[in-house]
Amino acid sequence: MNSSTAVVIGGGVIGLSTAYHLARKQFGKIILIDKGPVGDGASSRAAGIITGLLWSETGVLTRKKSLELYRELSQELEGYTFQDVGCLNLFDPPSWKDREKLLPLYERLAVPFEILDAAEMRRRWPALNPRDEFIGLLDPLGGYSEPHEYIPALTQKIRTLGIEIREDQKVTGFLMRNGRVMGVKTAAGDIEGDAIISTVHAWTPQVLEPLDLCFPMKSFVHQRYVTKPLTTAVNIPAINANPLGGYIRLAAGNRLLAGIETEAREEHRVTSTDFHMSMLSAPAELKEKIIREFVPLVPVLANTSWETEKIGLITFSMDGEPILGPVAKLPGFYIGTAFHSGGFAYNPVAGLLLAEFVVDGQPHIDVSPFSPDRFDSQNVDAYLATTVRQAEALHRRH
Ligand SMILES: Cc1cc2nc3c(=O)[nH]c(=O)nc-3n(C[C@H](O)[C@H](O)[C@H](O)COP(=O)(O)OP(=O)(O)OC[C@H]3O[C@@H](n4cnc5c(N)ncnc54)[C@H](O)[C@@H]3O)c2cc1C
Repeated sequence: MNSSTAVVIGGGVIGLSTAYHLARKQFGKIILIDKGPVGDGASSRAAGIITGLLWSETGVLTRKKSLELYRELSQELEGYTFQDVGCLNLFDPPSWKDREKLLPLYERLAVPFEILDAAEMRRRWPALNPRDEFIGLLDPLGGYSEPHEYIPALTQKIRTLGIEIREDQKVTGFLMRNGRVMGVKTAAGDIEGDAIISTVHAWTPQVLEPLDLCFPMKSFVHQRYVTKPLTTAVNIPAINANPLGGYIRLAAGNRLLAGIETEAREEHRVTSTDFHMSMLSAPAELKEKIIREFVPLVPVLANTSWETEKIGLITFSMDGEPILGPVAKLPGFYIGTAFHSGGFAYNPVAGLLLAEFVVDGQPHIDVSPFSPDRFDSQNVDAYLATTVRQAEALHRRH
């Protein structure tokens, strides 16, 4: 048995999954710390939609693994089921041009997909009424996970694997020895560790300040809504409706869940480690905007009204890819962040990759395009000095 200690900072889905995979790899002692209860950040607010049809080779390979792991977790976690409904990525003719170029990549990496015209989409899902010009790129392996089922189920699992979860303990600094990160400081005392893994999402800039570590990432407010129950059952896949700037899927209890982007909104800078996502707000008119945009596509949405709203932050790196792996200048320190609007989709594989870096020294997939060391410091400074609107940041959906 390994006698080392790993400290995972952040109890969102990335931190929970990292702790889970470290335990599966028989790492010695694993402590997961969150400043609130687990799932208190973006994870409990996510729509949980997942597609494997991303835009880079590394993205496609890692998501392929995520989808495999979600199916395994569905068997393994009590009270959790991966909703295997497929993910329909919608395009209009201008946006399809770029996506069409990726089809050879999907073929080469043996990732299944189907291209559907509007008539075929209406035939398969009578509740859907896409515009005649829409092109559907169906990911038959995609679907969604309900955060309120997945997070408690994974938390329960990692407890049974012997992981110590410390809630309501904020990490306030780091213990250093000979240029190596040797642990974390909290109000309740110092915790020594051989591997320190930071998965604090939008809090990353604040939390890593004492280490003089800075990554080119920006946060944006994002929101999603769930309706009251529908009176009749409908069958639709999870839909990334790119031409409508949002997404829609089924939700528990015969409800619909939909979210929309706010492209004109400026980035949100987290300026304190005490920041909490409950401090965010969304313009009231967004609820009507979603109805206006999505009723033509999913007409049954007109028969209900909104019941709940969830608002959180999504984070993007300068090149749009996640930031994941060891940090060369700080031996013993690892990071997983900036998963754009797809951190829920990435979490099973992100946790596995981080655990592989810690335990094996290298992961089973080459994720050098996600390396924390890939950025040039001058570009980072220039990028962070600007304030951008969401439309100007590289943004991808799920
Ligand atoms: C409205 C919305 C819809 C979304 N929809 C989707 C979707 O459909 N599909 C998808 O894949 N992704 C989606 N996302 C994105 C997804 O939610 C995130 O990418 C993912 O949850 C990030 O997980 P995380 O563990 O990195 O972050 P978080 O869940 O935010 O976890 C970070 C944790 O760190 C803790 N923390 C912070 N500072 C400290 C400290 N100093 N000490 C200790 N702990 C600390 C926080 O309390 C928090 O619990 C959505 C996001 C939003 C907001």
